[in-house]
Amino acid sequence: RRQTSLLMREIRAHSRTDRKLQKAKEAAEAANQAKSRYLIGISHELRSPLNAISGYAQLIQRDPDIPARRRDAIKVIRHSSDHLAGLIEGLLDISKIEAGHLTIYRDRFNLQDFLTQIVDMFRLQADAKSIEFRFLPSGNLPIHVYGDEKRLRQVLINLLSNAIKWTHFGSVTLKVGYQNQVAEFSVIDTGIGIAERDLERIFIPFERVETAESSSIPGTGLGLAITKLLTEVMGGDIGVQSSLGNGSTFRVRLLLSAAQTPDRPAPAEKQ
Ligand code: ADP
Repeated sequence: RRQTSLLMREIRAHSRTDRKLQKAKEAAEAANQAKSRYLIGISHELRSPLNAISGYAQLIQRDPDIPARRRDAIKVIRHSSDHLAGLIEGLLDISKIEAGHLTIYRDRFNLQDFLTQIVDMFRLQADAKSIEFRFLPSGNLPIHVYGDEKRLRQVLINLLSNAIKWTHFGSVTLKVGYQNQVAEFSVIDTGIGIAERDLERIFIPFERVETAESSSIPGTGLGLAITKLLTEVMGGDIGVQSSLGNGSTFRVRLLLSAAQTPDRPAPAEKQ
């Protein structure tokens, strides 16, 4: 009897701890939601004055009568406001994803056309830097798939822009494979590479790898954080392989079914 009552006491203590843990979790979640709502609000509020600043700077820049010294100053205003706009958009994206305010669609789209558009866009950018751009589709790529075309485009644009940005010689390759309804996109570059100790960090908001070069290359440090969050809310995953001086490979895997599958729910949105 004594043993049974000890056991009962232990069970009660456990369930008290469980309830406390549950409460703490709920409080943390509520605080997180409040933080995201706050950030969404701030980002919205910052947008309109910033639009006015960059709009007027553009207007003044077009004036043929302004002296050269002023022209440089206006250029700095425009660059700074563009950078700020990038930060605000990035923060807004992250807050929306974290608050679960981002709807992920599962619509039918033409994967071949989608890839052609992306390849055309980046071939031009690579040409401008005298880098080779290679597109390597493999396997049986379906023509139509179901997924969120806009978000997938955002993911690939972020990875390809980074690849071009950090590559000065050689090539940038987009490889696309497809197996068992899962698409695998690899963005491979022969650029500066990333040291092993920095590989985890680069997916964290505002983290940039400090090198003599990176301080002169513009960026917000938000692109990869957004890319990872977007990939995950679409139900996919992202990985990177890189070493300093030897280029990088970013790989995204994602379910892109070739047929509508009503019995399979769309990838869950983060709550
Ligand atoms: P941003 O490019 O705006 O700084 P990102 O989040 O896109 O921010 O990238 C974070 C950091 O990761 C970059 O500052 C850069 O140091 C590093 N990085 C990202 N992609 C590459 C790449 N393809 N090659 C080398 N370094 C990269």
